[in-house]
Amino acid sequence: MRGWPTWPTGAIGPNQTRDQHSQGEATQMGVPKRRVSHARQGERRSHHALTVPHLEECPHCHQQKRAHHACANCGWYAGREAVRIKVKTKPETPA
Ligand SMILES: [Zn+2]
Repeated sequence: MRGWPTWPTGAIGPNQTRDQHSQGEATQMGVPKRRVSHARQGERRSHHALTVPHLEECPHCHQQKRAHHACANCGWYAGREAVRIKVKTKPETPA
């Protein structure tokens, strides 16, 4: 159901004040005071969009790499090996 959120049992409902609730039970759950309107929800989510990282060709190994970053494939940046790339080795099995 859309619109009003459902209230978990034991939580403060729309027709229940915090004072009435606190008598008896020791544990309380944090509950929003007001519902968030669809407009406010959209305003909050307006900053949630993801962007595609800008890729360029690596001048050393010609793979796609992120601009202004060391190459993830060969570790080169600005004409030198800036980052040493770990070479995956197979775990040695005893003979
Ligand atoms: Zn590279």
